[in-house]
Amino acid sequence: MAYKKRYDGRGFKETRETKATANILKRADGSGEFSFGNSKAIVSVYGPKRVYPAFLEDADKALLRCYYDMISFSVKERKRPGPSRRSSEISLVSAGALKPALLLNEFPHTVIDVFIMITQADASTRVAGINAATIALANAGIPMTDLPAAVSIGKMGDTLVVDVNKEEEDYEEDGKHAATDIAICVLPRTKKISLLQLDGKITPEELKKVINMAFRAAPEINKKQIEALKNVEEL
Ligand code: UDP
Repeated sequence: MAYKKRYDGRGFKETRETKATANILKRADGSGEFSFGNSKAIVSVYGPKRVYPAFLEDADKALLRCYYDMISFSVKERKRPGPSRRSSEISLVSAGALKPALLLNEFPHTVIDVFIMITQADASTRVAGINAATIALANAGIPMTDLPAAVSIGKMGDTLVVDVNKEEEDYEEDGKHAATDIAICVLPRTKKISLLQLDGKITPEELKKVINMAFRAAPEINKKQIEALKNVEEL
């Protein structure tokens, strides 16, 4: 049985509705919100600021620390509050996805803290978080060489789709889980990939298609991020 029609009726290359806002929090140095349908992330950025303890500081560049977390009631089955292996991993890869686009060498001896909070989860939250973090970092005035755009690509059976929701992530064929979920962050200007995580199986040919799909999805994501940054309201 093939996945011929998406559960929510979207085209295979279509994302869910995306929404983006910049400058949502008064006391943060920068903030932003990004959603793919019912997956929503808000991000606050603090810094560049002094590093404590000081021995952690880097004389050549700012440290970038990301903290990803999901609110307990962001998911159907209450998530235990506090950090987990999953949140530590996502925090780490989110920092890795953002770093190549940031001119951290302009702020030696400092740290930039990025708090990524998922307020509602319907899969693809790490990519929503990265897109919100891009907005928040730009809103904080951190100079960038590129605008990271992250999206998930899924393989349901043999069908490749853009922006996986939870129902698709749980896709089964013949009673067996048959979904592959790939989180990708691209740097469209420099044509680089700063995140690629794959959960499942895929052929090298399919992976090439997946990467192309991510690059094709990026302009629309960047457009929303830029619009949000241009339409900042005073708080
Ligand atoms: N999820 C959940 N409870 C958890 C962790 C995840 O219900 O404790 C759901 C949530 O909808 C999340 C999805 O599983 O978006 C996929 O999680 P994954 O770890 O693949 O990361 P994501 O796709 O959100 O980046």
